[in-house]
Amino acid sequence: MKLIGRLRCRIGWHRRLDVIQSFGSAQHIGCPDCGKRFGIHHGIRSVVPWDADLHSMYEMMGYDVNGPLSRWERYRAVKVRQ
Ligand SMILES: [Zn+2]
Repeated sequence: MKLIGRLRCRIGWHRRLDVIQSFGSAQHIGCPDCGKRFGIHHGIRSVVPWDADLHSMYEMMGYDVNGPLSRWERYRAVKVRQ
């Protein structure tokens, strides 16, 4: 990634954010450029960094979190190589 892209991501101005997975009114989103991921909840209007606690919480709610994440990681790996 070029310097300008890295700086954009560093300050949180990601070029775009993919929806990795939806959980009702919440989503797991990620930047294809830098790989940073976030949890967003529309009901309480919050955006927080995606971490192991969110991962575990959605797994406990019965979601397959790893499947969509690994699909996105594969898609991202191809995109970064281009
Ligand atoms: Zn980014």
